[in-house]
Amino acid sequence: MSAELTFVAPRRAKPSRHLADLSMAERRTAVTELGEKPFRADQLSRHYFERLTTDPEHMTDLPAASRDQLVTQLMPNLLTSVREITCDEGMTRKTLWRLFDGALVESVLMRYPDRVTMCVSSQAGCGMNCPFCATGQAGLTRNMSTAEIVEQVVSGARALARDEVPGGPGRVSNIVFMGMGEPLANYKAVIGAVRRIVDPAPEGLGISARGVTVSTVGLVPAIEKLSNEGLPVTLAVSLHAPDDELRDTLVPVNTRWKVGEVLDAAWAYAAKTKRRVSIEYAMIKDINDHEWRADLLGRLLKGKLVHVNLIPLNPTPGSKWTASRPEDERAFVRRLESHGVAVTVRDTRGREIDGACGQLAAATPDS
Ligand code: SAH
Repeated sequence: MSAELTFVAPRRAKPSRHLADLSMAERRTAVTELGEKPFRADQLSRHYFERLTTDPEHMTDLPAASRDQLVTQLMPNLLTSVREITCDEGMTRKTLWRLFDGALVESVLMRYPDRVTMCVSSQAGCGMNCPFCATGQAGLTRNMSTAEIVEQVVSGARALARDEVPGGPGRVSNIVFMGMGEPLANYKAVIGAVRRIVDPAPEGLGISARGVTVSTVGLVPAIEKLSNEGLPVTLAVSLHAPDDELRDTLVPVNTRWKVGEVLDAAWAYAAKTKRRVSIEYAMIKDINDHEWRADLLGRLLKGKLVHVNLIPLNPTPGSKWTASRPEDERAFVRRLESHGVAVTVRDTRGREIDGACGQLAAATPDS
């Protein structure tokens, strides 16, 4: 038997428990188990979600002797910032995070005159294998925990509250699950994170559910489940093609759930939540940007509670594809509009720092 084996540290399977993983009732049980009164859970939660602090020194309403233990046990550090890059005069900031097991994920904060949007990751890597997406190329490393997802938001909220983002102190108003990963493939942790994001303090951050968007390749059973959660978040469906033949190649999970089934699930979601569904469509030159496809898409979406977001393709390194010509993009928009479908072209914030859609590949700092 090899001697080295005896020295291998047992690999922790899961990130440490964090209060953001727990409901309020579970947090009270957890502090009781640590020998504290249940209301300490409320105080601790307010420090985390309201004051955005994990520093025991700041927790003067907690007995000095208990603070360290409570923080160690319920607010372990889950994300370590490995690298931060900014552009747009600091208004766009991408962070590369290392998780406890070395897995890397990214989040992006984008400040606009009227809002701050955070784009968060829900998985390290992604298993959906869309050929135009940088994350898709590397495959899935693992699901993130609820607290790992929430920590990305809290860290952005903290930077804004402490006036570390140009433009003065601010708050996070919008969250989009458009970073790394397929959120609906990590359903339970993502729903937990959405609850922590929308629940008011001390439960959570108290960000309006209207500002939260969950983006999916179209996992139909999970969309149906989401519509029954009582969470009025915006659903975004990454369609990218109106016909199964092309979508089978651009979004491989289409071989399982077809365009028609995905859209039916989306309309049921809109009917149930009264929320307008967002259709994401990366404009890829000569691949999916033909006028006839715009027409087909227009016919599929006509009269529905829907909005189309066209995203100029961000070519991934080595990609044979590029963004559509401006004139083709304009023609595509006109065709959709002729069917009465609302359409906007997404801005490409963060492009120069590989922080725009589909570029989150979590390259290691030295690469
Ligand atoms: N898995 C989720 C979230 C992914 S990222 C989903 O697929 O919806 C959010 C959006 O960026 C998706 O619509 C995705 O298709 C799109 N995207 C991925 N790579 C892109 C690229 N290279 N250029 C433009 N958009 C891209």
